[in-house]
Amino acid sequence: MAIVIIGAGQAAGQAAASLRQEGSDEEIIIIGDESHIPYSRPLLSKEYLAGHESARLYLRAEKFYTEKNVTMRTSTRAEKIDTAAKTVTVEGGEVIEYSKLLIATGSRARILNIKGSDLGGIYYLRTLDDVNRIKTAMASGKNLVIVGGGYIGLEVAAVAKESGMNVTVLEAADRILQRVTTPEMSAYYDELHTSKGVNVLTDTGVSGFDGEDSVTHVCCGDERIEADMVIVGIGIIANTELASEAGIECDNGIVVDERCRTSAEDVYAAGDCANHPNPILGRRLRLESVPNAADQARVVAANMMGKDKTYAAVPWFWSDQYGLKLQMVGFSADGDTQVVRGDKSANKFSVLYLKDGALVAVDAVNCPGDFMAAKQLYGKKLNLDGLSDADTPLKDLVLSE
Ligand code: FAD
Ligand code: NAP
Repeated sequence: MAIVIIGAGQAAGQAAASLRQEGSDEEIIIIGDESHIPYSRPLLSKEYLAGHESARLYLRAEKFYTEKNVTMRTSTRAEKIDTAAKTVTVEGGEVIEYSKLLIATGSRARILNIKGSDLGGIYYLRTLDDVNRIKTAMASGKNLVIVGGGYIGLEVAAVAKESGMNVTVLEAADRILQRVTTPEMSAYYDELHTSKGVNVLTDTGVSGFDGEDSVTHVCCGDERIEADMVIVGIGIIANTELASEAGIECDNGIVVDERCRTSAEDVYAAGDCANHPNPILGRRLRLESVPNAADQARVVAANMMGKDKTYAAVPWFWSDQYGLKLQMVGFSADGDTQVVRGDKSANKFSVLYLKDGALVAVDAVNCPGDFMAAKQLYGKKLNLDGLSDADTPLKDLVLSE
């Protein structure tokens, strides 16, 4: 018997390392359908795409897994979980018994299914193999159209523009980044990209792609935009099928409790595929971020080792575009008031979001101090007088309870 982890991504890699740190000496088997050992996806749309090969790409070196008795089954897809027999069946039919199981299957890119979407030259960016294909195409590509003005679309737009391509971003909604931030921040990022020469088109859905074998034009209603390359970044779908087919409760993700336990005994879930209760925010959510995957994996490892650890973290995110670091804490949509600190024109500012006077979110651009402070001060009431003064540390504005 072994501890089995399905998915060889961020959560899986962290869980294996944390299990050893927690003192587990049981065999650990990681089953991953990619051909790679766990790596960091954030670099894919940033440094790695820009050509900076990074020592940080892999979460841990290959020898870590051999030295720590972690059996890495790459290029292997898990096909079935039997929670009564406590087994996982992998492609080819091999059955692996587990003492405890972590489902860390992550998510996959949402696919556009429209006229011409099977043409060559249309790419999605989820995996290391995807980005390697994209890098090759970008080396000779000239006109790039990006479908989706979310994190992937904008980070790729920044890299592609800096590499000299003509870049158009098509966003179906009335503003870019609408899923993750406020109209004001969307406008700031729209202006930033436009000022760099990116053609940002909002309220623009894609109706089809034209071309013989490879894409030559992207169709948006009556308009046709020239493209020798398209990258689609229109969100993700959580990989929950394996769990739901095993009878494990799923509802916008695999439902877990605060200890990352699923509805099946000795089965845990973590990362993009898990829907957890957040006691700080007071609601359930499924997050798509590295800190969430890594922290949940640590909680799983501790609980598998008989400890009693709960997951309670304020969500945070980051994005790098044109050398600007956006760092976000909480969800801006939770606020009823917003205050800007710093200087937008100098690309150094933060927007604080408060609800009933208490801090519920921060979007910080090149302001790591406000980001760090906001993580500590989440939920605290702040003095509105002086809040817009970037020279006053946030901690000095906390009102006594
Ligand atoms: P994943 O890392 O996706 O790993 C899941 C693995 O399981 C995958 O390899 C998948 O192929 C495999 N798998 C699925 N089903 C099976 C099966 N049946 N059998 C075997 N294997 C299976 N987050 C941030 O916080 N900051 C960022 O800046 C950021 N940038 C990103 C940039 C890009 C390009 C992408 C794609 C994502 C980015 N994210 C970022 C999101 C972040 O990478 C994810 O939230 C994180 O990887 C989730 O970790 P995970 O372990 O849940 O899933
Ligand atoms: P995303 O953040 O969900 O953004 C996708 C965007 O595309 C949304 O604004 C969406 O609008 C829009 N869209 C949907 N369908 C469209 C269509 N047919 N035409 C044009 N636009 C369309 O997802 P993503 O950027 O693809 O990122 C994928 C995953 O990687 C996410 O989990 C994300 O968090 C992660 N990621 C994170 C980072 C980071 O944290 N810095 C960086 C890269 C990737 P609607 O919302 O209206 O559908």
